[in-house]
Amino acid sequence: MLVVAGTRPEIIKLVPVMQALAAGGVVSPRFCHSGQHQNLGRSVLDAAQIAPDEQLLRPDVVDLGALLAGLTTSIGTALDRQCPRAVVVQGDTATALAGALAAFHRQIPVAHVEAGLRSGQIDRPWPEEAYRRMISRLARWHFAPTAAAKLALLNEGVSPAHVEQVGNTVIDALHWALGRLDADDTLGAEAVPVIARAGKRPIVLATVHRREHGEGDLRAIAEGLRALAAREKVELVLPLHPREENAVLRDMLGRVPHVRIVEPLGYFAFLRLMRAARLIVSDSGGVQEEATAMGRPMLVLRAETERPEALQAGTATLVGADPGLMLARAQDALAAPMPEPSTVFGDGRAAQRIAARLARDL
Ligand code: UDP
Repeated sequence: MLVVAGTRPEIIKLVPVMQALAAGGVVSPRFCHSGQHQNLGRSVLDAAQIAPDEQLLRPDVVDLGALLAGLTTSIGTALDRQCPRAVVVQGDTATALAGALAAFHRQIPVAHVEAGLRSGQIDRPWPEEAYRRMISRLARWHFAPTAAAKLALLNEGVSPAHVEQVGNTVIDALHWALGRLDADDTLGAEAVPVIARAGKRPIVLATVHRREHGEGDLRAIAEGLRALAAREKVELVLPLHPREENAVLRDMLGRVPHVRIVEPLGYFAFLRLMRAARLIVSDSGGVQEEATAMGRPMLVLRAETERPEALQAGTATLVGADPGLMLARAQDALAAPMPEPSTVFGDGRAAQRIAARLARDL
């Protein structure tokens, strides 16, 4: 079994699957790192003591087509070396689609973890909505995190025999990581001075990385964050994703009082900050799931979400890239009690279910 991942969220969400496959002892996992993000997932792999069996180089291109082509080729060569009986991919990244396509070309069955998420709009999020729909056409096993995701797949004609609702493995990762954090003060220690510096000010933790945000959206988001830091007595922490386009956030927010721009944080440090945060502002998918499970209010910097469960649970609120709405909803959330933690995204045993199903079928 070859598990293919290359970006931070995929690595976080597939580490529990590798652990469960290894613990099950029936199907032994091997890990192919596509190189799509060179370092962003390293803290998780180190803590889980997982070293890639295949470490590929990220194709040195910016064009999405060239990236997909390069990854399909490099993952294909890894498949030719490893000859797995099945390939596991996660979510909706270029690595996931390239992994599924490379496996399909070799007639190797594909297991898709976090299958069936749909925004209903092909270009939002872009290119992820299209990528995950294409993976659904290629996969044999569809591991849906929620009832809504399972229903979306059934409505698209996927056979019920091939769809299983298992929960989201991000919750397995979260339980594992929070347990590790409690046991080891040195894990994620880079968050400690950031939290200490906030003093009595409530922490607002923000992340921005979606590709479909153009410069206009990024400027509007920066304006909203600036207004929030100016109007409310908060400390705003922004671990800046290394996308080139995010330079505008650094330009607009770099010298604003009580706004702290930091490098992308390791997973454990980020979770320490989430735990300490009074409010989260983000366009991230995984963070919506984590905030819901941890009971942290979150403003989602998007017009729609493929995770409606987070809205229903009452943790997440859509604000798009509208600075006025951001400020108003942030003020509401800061004045309201913290939401209750919710298990809508899973009970922490999704990976066990996935490993059991794969062991049975293989
Ligand atoms: N995350 C992290 N460090 C950061 C920001 C986020 O480890 O500085 C983690 C976060 O806990 C979550 C995941 O990265 O599990 C989300 O990744 P991202 O927002 O890049 O992608 P998405 O979930 O939107 O696909």
